[in-house]
Amino acid sequence: MALTGIQILKMLPKTNCGECGIPTCLAFAMKVAAGQVEIDLCPDVSEEAKATIGEASAPPIRTIKIGSGDSAFTGGGETCLYRHEKRFENATGLAVLIGTDMSDADVDGRIDRFKSLRYERVGVNLKADLIAVKDADGDQGKFTALVKKVLDGAEDANLILMSDNAASLAEGTKLCGERKPLLFGVNADNITDMASLAKETGCPLGVKGSNLDNTVELSEKLIGDGIKDIVIDTGARTMRAALDDNIVARRAAVKSKFKPLGFPTIAFPCEMTDDPMMEAMIASVLIAKYAGIVVLSDLQGDLLFPLLLEQLNLFTDPQRPMVVKEDIYNINGPDENAPVLITCNFSLTYFIVSGEIEGSNVPSWLLIKDTEGLSVLTAWAAGKFGADLIAQFIKKSGIEDKVKHRDLIIPGYLASIKGELEEELPDWTITMGPREAGHLPAFLKEWKPAAK
Ligand code: SF4
Repeated sequence: MALTGIQILKMLPKTNCGECGIPTCLAFAMKVAAGQVEIDLCPDVSEEAKATIGEASAPPIRTIKIGSGDSAFTGGGETCLYRHEKRFENATGLAVLIGTDMSDADVDGRIDRFKSLRYERVGVNLKADLIAVKDADGDQGKFTALVKKVLDGAEDANLILMSDNAASLAEGTKLCGERKPLLFGVNADNITDMASLAKETGCPLGVKGSNLDNTVELSEKLIGDGIKDIVIDTGARTMRAALDDNIVARRAAVKSKFKPLGFPTIAFPCEMTDDPMMEAMIASVLIAKYAGIVVLSDLQGDLLFPLLLEQLNLFTDPQRPMVVKEDIYNINGPDENAPVLITCNFSLTYFIVSGEIEGSNVPSWLLIKDTEGLSVLTAWAAGKFGADLIAQFIKKSGIEDKVKHRDLIIPGYLASIKGELEEELPDWTITMGPREAGHLPAFLKEWKPAAK
């Protein structure tokens, strides 16, 4: 049960020392209760209180890390059923399956595609996160050789090691070093050995249930044995069953705080169909409905890219607009005669405008004004992109030292502020740019500084 701010305050030192970065213990307690800061920020709180508060404020779906360092995969941490209730925290991980029953060419192809199918969209790098290495024929030597090959071939891949044999997983884990893999799959026969291995290595465990009840049973046993980091597979191998199980698990964890299902799920579209298009469709459904990780049989750009975009759209916090930094951006190597354009700091606007300028090959200065992530017209309507604020920004930005001319190109939709801006910036000529970013290349190719 979540604690209130007042309940948390009772466990704090109440000295109002401010070392947590917040002026008072009460304000800090309120923020902890709202899930905005971690209790660890207070250096003077007792370990006992930390454990009590940490437990009470933990998300109903446990946060799990696979791998290490900056490229580690983080899954779970979810607190709600629907994104509009709060936000979704950690994007579904996309994994590609590589098995000991595959030819060298198939393995190499999958590793190559894992490394090469990467995209940048609105400043975010999109890619598959994990490689699932499967012991398909129970041969420990082949399995460890494959683990080594994947570790060497894909240096930033986070690994899922799949075997029923705890000894094989132990050998594979040794090769992984600090790149802590997910050890999959715990069943009724190997649960004791797997729990010991997890305790020894600190790796998360993947439960391989035969159905939802069996998954709960295995998960309860692991929790009872002190294992905290778990990922669950309910054994569903049809889209309908996997979707149902994911929904039941999420509801049970979020609404009823049912601990045995309070973990990220792993789903296997790769085992649900042989048709790549159908597999991608199943994956898209399971990304939308609560899968923590989906394992694909292969990576193909035309199927992976839409899944990555779906992932980006679902897991972007709608309450925090994506923004770029207020700054002067130089595109195509501008000099003192290059055109100067200005727009807002909404990521999508920035990337569309900068992309068109880049494509035009015209060296240009692009000024990005902080509008708190609002697009041009919305920012103008909200009073964040008015003539006075643009003028202040132009003066303090340093652009006047970078160019000889004084010609500022503003977005075509802001025609109404041209007069006001000319008053605010009497040394500058204000030129209306095109309304559509797509018309920028032709406009820039024709552009000449206005004669003053
Ligand atoms: S660091 Fe701890 S004691 Fe100091 S103000 Fe913050 S919560 Fe209170």
